[in-house]
Amino acid sequence: MSKKYVYFFGPEGSDGNASMKNTLGGKGANLAEMSNLGIPVPAGFTLSTDLCTAYYKNNKTYPAEVQGQLMENLAKMEEVMGKKFGSSESPLLLSVRSGARVSMPGMMDTVLNLGLNEETLKGLEANGGKRFAWDSYRRFIQMYGNVVMGIDGHVFEHEIDTLKKEKNVKGDLELTAEDLEELVKRYKEAIKKQNKGEFPTDPMAQLWGAINAVFGSWMNDRAIKYRDMYHIPADWGTAVNVQSMVFGNMGNDCATGVAFTRNPSTGEKVFYGEYLVNAQGEDVVAGIRTPQQITLSGSRKWAEENNVSEEERKANFGSLEEVMPEVYETLVEIYHKLEEHYKDMQDLEFTIQNNKLYMLQTRNGKRTAKAAVRIAVDMVKEGLIDKDTALLRVAPEMIDQLLHPQFIKDEKKKAVTEGKMIARGLPASPGAASGTVVFSAEDAEKAKEAGRKVVLVRIETSPEDIGGMDASEGILTARGGMTSHAAVVARGMGKCCVSGCGVLNISYAEKTFEVDGKVIKEGDTISIDGGTGEVFIGSIPSEAAKFEGDFGELMTWADERRVLKVRTNADTPRDSQVARDFGAEGIGLCRTEHMFFEGDRIKAVREMILADDEAGRRKALEKLIKHQRDDFTGIFRVMEGLPVTVRLLDPPLHEFLPNEEESQKEMAEEMGLTVEQVKEKVEELHEVNPMLGHRGCRLGITYPEITEMQARAIFEAACDLTKDGVKVFPEVMVPLVGKKEEFVMQKEIINRIAEKVFEEKEITVDYMVGTMIEVPRGALTADEIAEEAEFFSFGTNDLTQMCLGYSRDDAGKFIKVYREKGILANDPFASIDQDGVGQLVEIATKKGRKVRSNIKLGVCGEHGGDPASIEFFHKTGLNYVSCSPYRVPIARLAAAQSAINNDLIRDVKVKIEDAYNVIETGLKSLVKLIKKD
Ligand code: PEP
Ligand code: MG
Repeated sequence: MSKKYVYFFGPEGSDGNASMKNTLGGKGANLAEMSNLGIPVPAGFTLSTDLCTAYYKNNKTYPAEVQGQLMENLAKMEEVMGKKFGSSESPLLLSVRSGARVSMPGMMDTVLNLGLNEETLKGLEANGGKRFAWDSYRRFIQMYGNVVMGIDGHVFEHEIDTLKKEKNVKGDLELTAEDLEELVKRYKEAIKKQNKGEFPTDPMAQLWGAINAVFGSWMNDRAIKYRDMYHIPADWGTAVNVQSMVFGNMGNDCATGVAFTRNPSTGEKVFYGEYLVNAQGEDVVAGIRTPQQITLSGSRKWAEENNVSEEERKANFGSLEEVMPEVYETLVEIYHKLEEHYKDMQDLEFTIQNNKLYMLQTRNGKRTAKAAVRIAVDMVKEGLIDKDTALLRVAPEMIDQLLHPQFIKDEKKKAVTEGKMIARGLPASPGAASGTVVFSAEDAEKAKEAGRKVVLVRIETSPEDIGGMDASEGILTARGGMTSHAAVVARGMGKCCVSGCGVLNISYAEKTFEVDGKVIKEGDTISIDGGTGEVFIGSIPSEAAKFEGDFGELMTWADERRVLKVRTNADTPRDSQVARDFGAEGIGLCRTEHMFFEGDRIKAVREMILADDEAGRRKALEKLIKHQRDDFTGIFRVMEGLPVTVRLLDPPLHEFLPNEEESQKEMAEEMGLTVEQVKEKVEELHEVNPMLGHRGCRLGITYPEITEMQARAIFEAACDLTKDGVKVFPEVMVPLVGKKEEFVMQKEIINRIAEKVFEEKEITVDYMVGTMIEVPRGALTADEIAEEAEFFSFGTNDLTQMCLGYSRDDAGKFIKVYREKGILANDPFASIDQDGVGQLVEIATKKGRKVRSNIKLGVCGEHGGDPASIEFFHKTGLNYVSCSPYRVPIARLAAAQSAINNDLIRDVKVKIEDAYNVIETGLKSLVKLIKKD
């Protein structure tokens, strides 16, 4: 039997459904699903993603059966639509669109009006009039010429602009049928001059040309770049959707539009969208005409924001609700049906032809983090989804956007009163951005490399600009609505964006924009507020966003669901407070070395390092103990009632000595030494990367007085606070242990000092002594170490570098090549290398628990804040992860998702096991029966 590559969809029933995204792509699967739901969708068919894969496998040729399947489906379409492809009386015209599993703005998008030539044009003219027919034809040539034949869009823009000048008209709509006929002639001549072949007139040749172009676009540079950015595998392939055309530009009872079932920027439950009367799809997003609002309330709000009077609004910018009330009612019915069916916010495309509504697309709408959270929480309250589903709807990394800065209110007010606000566009993607102006994506990328912060200013953006958008702090466009390319892509990226700021006069040639007589040049600083659409001259200070409302509620659900605790890595009271406000349940790693650099402490540290004997070192340590005690007091106080893991000094001592000649001279003078003496010490202590030498517990073993001082500072602070009624739970952590004996030696010092301090202070405090597991030997002998250690904290930073043999810094030099060559899927310093480092964590967990069943296990390497690694730690059964303060909310959500996913997997496993048992019993009975016979 031949393989099925072509899938029909339409009012008579579809071959596919929404669950077939892998085969049909997102767009194709949803078109099939909508048809199945009885929603009016123009008939069509989808060429599967398998065909894309086969096409590339077979040297860009198609399996033999495809032609027959395509013709069969085309015939079915003709029957359903009552038209004929290539007919001059009643021609069926087609749209051809790409559609991967996930939407990919990097690919070829759409060719409309396919099937037109001077013969079929006659049929179109008979139905929609001469002007409409020639306008459709010139649009088709323009689009096909651009996306399929690869001719620069400017070639066509130049022709239309010249003709408009000759005819002395401003808008495209003022061109007559005859003008458009002339334009078609000029387009065709212009194409000839480009040496890209003749414009095809045979409809079948046009169709195959477009299909080849869509499959070809899967491997274009933009698509590859996009896939790389979003880690989309190349072998997924794209589908191609071929659909009957319906026309939104056949007169004033026609229209086209896009809509979201809820506001994609704020998440508010209001139907939200834009449309244009007498227009074709691309007109709405291209920003050439100002789109109208779909709802009356949206339209009024828009008018208010744009200073448009009610009369003018009604006359020129009426809402669909007013202009086509019946169609509007149908659209409302359909959007409710779709949202209830998909149980998620939908992004819709529709066309109205002679007052009849057709749906062209539905998909789960892209949204900002703020909207994602609000929609998830609202949908639980509406009974549409359960809490687990809500938690899975928000990508943990997205939460970062919510913690992103907003302009400080008073500072923004000040900028307004100082007249620095120069324009207002649409609030396309929230956040606050200040930076110098650049006018091209390329310049934005260069600036990023040079470490400069920029705001990308464009008339409008296109898929080629993705890299530059990513490199910018924010994006400002003159054209395009809330659904324009800039707005949609920026929201997906979590970038601040103001779109449709029509008052800007941008000149790419001069690298300036002018507004109200003010000229802003490349390199000038501006600020944009993506939450309000405001644009300012100069920079405005910003602050972190507030952590409350829906977000707070969702996080509470996450806390109820997660098994892993979330702690933070912090070594100042300020960072500890930030983390606690973000929900940290203690400190998993307080790196004490950071405290050694503050103020003039570094002098005492250096004195200690340079001392020749123990007495000298003790003298210097005496100066440090007060500071350390104060540090611990501050942190313990902030973390009242929660555990605080304090790690003893870890890095090699050379890190505390100056490297620069100038600083070495200064230090020598300060300490009454010669420069040579300082240099000698620096050289003696220097460790090269990866630092595997005289550091960690080895420092505390060779210089026990350092451990003594640190332990004393910890316990003195703990005792004093306990006397004040503050509950403290210190956990003293020994770094870099590879042998049980190393740990035992340090533990002995810690316990001895603890007892001494308790005696002096006449009070005792509960505490624990444990170790980092961050060298492979430590992991492999974890059972021995667990005899002595009350807790392990996996230091996956060191464990990764020792396991793989390179440091994080080294990795930067080759990780890209490694990823390109398929040696590594991810950076192992960002996401845990499960086969190597992960195995060590699993082994140590098992061995540790075997000896000490209640051993507390955590992770404090960077991986503790990475969602994919968190999933692994959950599965391994650790007790907590610890990460930097700003990642605490991300880790809380990721931990909840890990628990949910794990439960889902467990449930599926149980079902599979049940099914297996049923089959086994059945087979056994069958065997018995056979044996009987
Ligand atoms: C680690 O090695 O993972 C760790 C947390 O310690 P540091 O990064 O300070 O070496
Ligand atoms: Mg370490």
